[in-house]
Amino acid sequence: MKKLVVITGASSGFGSAIARRLNALDYPLLLIARRLEPMEDLKLSNTICKAVDVCDAEGFKNAIIEAEAIYGEVETLINNAGIMLLSELDSQDPKEWEAMINVNLKGVLNGMEIVISKMKKRQSGTIVNMSSLAGQKTYEFHAAYCATKYAVHGLTEATRWELAPYNVRVIEISPGAAETELVSHISVPAVQKDYKDWKESIGGVISADDVASAVEFAVELPQSVCIRDLKIAPTKQQ
Ligand code: NDP
Repeated sequence: MKKLVVITGASSGFGSAIARRLNALDYPLLLIARRLEPMEDLKLSNTICKAVDVCDAEGFKNAIIEAEAIYGEVETLINNAGIMLLSELDSQDPKEWEAMINVNLKGVLNGMEIVISKMKKRQSGTIVNMSSLAGQKTYEFHAAYCATKYAVHGLTEATRWELAPYNVRVIEISPGAAETELVSHISVPAVQKDYKDWKESIGGVISADDVASAVEFAVELPQSVCIRDLKIAPTKQQ
């Protein structure tokens, strides 16, 4: 029996695609997002779906405790949940950058905090943090989003060295533009249109399954092999 994988943000986009791929490889899964129905609609075997906000540390922890009681300790945590609310900073509602900091950064910290001590004790485990090309490169209208993804990059690099002596892998996946629901949440119509025009100008973007294939590749390597930072993007993207 394979060991438990937790995937956050599994109700759409990359998270759903990763869930499908890992389920096909017989991993038991705990899927987490705020919307339950899209996760249940995936109809995956050996899978628990929980409507949890990753900003709610207690709810996140309780979901993991429940899944561990059935499938054993978490072997792999995929911190994928995220939002991208692009805007010029001076005209952006502060609630938007607060939400990005909460989900994109604190949500990742919450997940890591829950699983790390057991992984260290066991001397085995894998944490995958979904960053972005925007975690190491800046783009127009991305100031607050970039800030959160640069933070994820720093957090991932720092914890990789912290956990290496315990044989725990900390992996950063940095995708470029991909087709998911992410852009639909941008509240400024002109910025959303600008992003869509840009995607067309580069001849289209990669798919959620392309990104899921990169995650599968990294996870499936032996525990002694750690992909540090895997960048995957449309060939024509700068
Ligand atoms: P989607 O919008 O399709 O998926 C985002 C997922 O995150 C959804 O399942 C959503 O579920 C979940 N989510 C959002 N907020 C919360 C929350 N507070 N608690 C729990 N779950 C939450 O976007 P993607 O699949 O594209 O995004 C996945 C990750 O990839 C993000 O971290 C994003 O920043 C990153 N990324 C995306 C790129 C792209 O071009 N698409 C490029 C680079 C990185 P629900 O609403 O049900 O809670």
